[in-house]
Formats: sequence, structure tokens, C-alpha cells
Amino acid sequence: IAPHWQILIALGLAVALGVVFRNFSVAAGDVSSFALFANRATAVSSFVGDLFMSALKMIIVPLIVSSIIAGIGALGGVKGFGRLGAKTIGFYALTSLTAILVGLTVVNVFEPGLVDGQPNIEIREAFDRSVDSASESERAKVEAANQKQATDYLDFFKKLFPPNIIAAASDNGQMLGLIVFSILFGVGMTRLPVGEMQTLQGTIQGVNDVMILITRWIMMTAPIGVFALMFPVVYQSGAGLFLELGRYFGTVLTALAVHMFVTLPLILKFVGKVSPVAHFKAMQTALLTAFSTASSSATLPVTMRCVQENAGVSRRTSSFTLPLGATVNMDGTALYECVAVIFVAQVMGVDMAFGAQFVVVGAALLTSIGVAGVPSASLVAILLILKNSNVEGAETAVVALLSVDRLLDMSRTAVNVFGDSCAAVVVGASEGEKVLQGDLHDFEGDIED
Ligand code: ASP
Repeated sequence: IAPHWQILIALGLAVALGVVFRNFSVAAGDVSSFALFANRATAVSSFVGDLFMSALKMIIVPLIVSSIIAGIGALGGVKGFGRLGAKTIGFYALTSLTAILVGLTVVNVFEPGLVDGQPNIEIREAFDRSVDSASESERAKVEAANQKQATDYLDFFKKLFPPNIIAAASDNGQMLGLIVFSILFGVGMTRLPVGEMQTLQGTIQGVNDVMILITRWIMMTAPIGVFALMFPVVYQSGAGLFLELGRYFGTVLTALAVHMFVTLPLILKFVGKVSPVAHFKAMQTALLTAFSTASSSATLPVTMRCVQENAGVSRRTSSFTLPLGATVNMDGTALYECVAVIFVAQVMGVDMAFGAQFVVVGAALLTSIGVAGVPSASLVAILLILKNSNVEGAETAVVALLSVDRLLDMSRTAVNVFGDSCAAVVVGASEGEKVLQGDLHDFEGDIED
């Protein structure tokens, strides 16, 4: 069976088993031996899931560094790289903005935080209740985020030049400094005498090849990893806030779906002149991995492989576009930030006029660049924007949203990854590459140039 089917089946099994286990332990009671067994099973499952996530994360640092440096080498230095960079960054900025505007429209039409035009008191009460039952770690996370200052919007610029490159590389998910360093290194490499440059280039290309090979090995375990990640999520998700937040979930998922299934495909079709359906097919495995891990960073190795082998984008293009995208381009996250902030404002009875919403759009665009590609990372940005917009009860709301974040996180991460891959395809096509014309390899083929 094809890899993406294996993953999909694992996902389905995890959901089914999670639901069954959950219902059995609820029926048998919290202290029954079945519930104890189920708890142990989820613990083991989480452990295995963490192993899979870590294995994927393990290769990101060498992968990012080697692919960017080798990519710039292939581009022949600053000139080719400048053109590619400008196209990529332009694409990222425009699609993120479009995503936010979609979110803004949908949240204003659905008004998930209001009933009959008034703030929904029930949601507010549910927020308060969920803070009482929030775990220590959830509260600590929000508390830490709360210490941040408004000027942290500018954090992004600070991260461009990390004082210590090793420290930057070890800061999970914050890869911006590493990217800048790799770009400088790559450009520097092209200025070396030819012989020296070729040796270095060949070595780094070799490192890159090995990373891609290791990704393939790790992905052989993907069905197990995905099952292990999903099962505890389903088992632990009680009805809880889901009832009160049904309309909010609907709003977010609708907006994400519009961006993923309407906006981006239109861009693929009319700007990239490629088939959106073929691109969805090419990206299946990466999308499922993004959905299961809720981390665009951890998914990066898979995204690269799908874009290169299935969509047929050259390494020259994708090796810069994708690492940058996984770090700074998050369409789903930007859209979500906007929807979440306006929703909380609605619930808390803060009337956001056009001007205030405009500020939220700008803030969502800026902060989505700095958000790390790890689970629930955007909640910090949401708290920051809420506080800057003077919405009271921001902390309570964010703790509550954190407790039901997983499904939304998984969905927006898939959109984030899809957005990056669209950039690679559109930029690749604009560079005259034959994208989306070959066969699907999907982790079956060998390394090729
Ligand atoms: N989990 C998201 C990602 O990795 C970030 C977020 O929106 O929390 O892309």
C-alpha cells in the first residue's frame, strides 16, 4: 500500500480506538481497571509518538543548513538567489495577508462569540470553568507568555542575527537565525576559488543527500508514529468546552478550508499554471504528517521530500523556499490568530471597530512570522495581540483555548505546510521548471538529482 494510505489508515485506527477506549473507560468509571489500563496505554502511545516527533526534528538543523547552502551554490550566488528570494518572500507576504483577510471575513460573518448580537455569556463562563481545571503546565505556559512586552513584536528582527549560532540552532523551532547564517555562508562559499568551492559544495550536498535518506527511513515508521500521536489525543479529548465552542470551531475550520481549498488552488491554477489536484496528491504524505504532528518544523523533512520527488520542484528552488517557509510563512496560523483575537473580543464584549480590526490584521501578519513551527505556538501571539488590543480576560481566554487547541492546531499546521509547498511550486514554475508533471514517488524512489 502507498505510504499516504498507510498513514491514513493508522490515523483512522487511532481515532476509532481512541473513541472506543474513551467510551469504555467513561462507562467503567475513572478508577476501574479498564481506565487504568487505558491510561497506561495512552502513556506508552505518547512516548512512542514523542520518539517519532523527535526523530523528525533531529534532522532539521543539518537539513536546513545543508539545503540552503547547497541551494545557493546551485543558484550560483547572490544574483540568482536574489531573484528567487524576492519571488518567495513576495508570495509568502501576499498569501499570508490573503489568509488573514479570509479569516477576518469569516469571523465577522459567523460572529462565533455573539448570540443575537450580544456577547455570549455561556462561553465566558465556560472559559472561567476551564481555567479552574487547566493543568499546571498550561497555566504556566500562558503565564510565561504574559510576561512578554508589546515590543516583542520586534523579536523577529532580533532573531535575524543570533549572537550564538549553536544556541540558535538548539532553540527548538526558531530557525530564523540559522537560515540567515546559512544564506551568508552559501553566498560566501560561491566567492571561494573554484576548486575550493566545488569541494565544499560537494560535501554539503552530500550531507543534504544523507539527510533526505534518513528522512525516508524515519518515514517508514510513520504509520506507527502517527497512530501513537493521535490515539492519546482522541482518548483524552472529552466533550469539555467543545460543546460551547462548536460555532467557533466551525468558523476556524471554514476559514482554513476556504484558504486551503479555494484561495491557494486558484493561485496554483492561475499564477503557477499547474493542476491543484495534482499538487494535493503530491503533498498527501506531508499534509498528513503536518496534521498528525501539529508542527511545521517537524514536518519540514517530509515537505521537502514531497515537493522535490512528487511535485518535481528542483532542489535549487525548494531548498531555500521550504526551510524559510516552515519558519516564517504560516498562512493557517496567521488566519487563526486573527479569528481567535476577534472571537475573544466578541466574547468579552469588546467592540472592535474597523480601525482596531485593521491593527489585528497587521499584528497577525507580523507575529505569524515569528511564531515557531511547534504545537500551539501561536497561542502566545494571540495573548500578545489581545493584550495590546486591551481586551480584558485575555489570559483566561487563552488558557481555555489552549485546552482545546489540538484539533485546530493540527488543521492550521496542515494549511501552513500546504502554503509553503504552493510557494515552492509556483516559484519553481516561474523559473521554468517542469513541476507536477512526473510520477508520484512518495517515499518509494531513490535519491535523484
Ligand atoms: N503548530 C503550528 C505550526 O507548527 C504553529 C501554531 O499555529 O501554533 O505550524
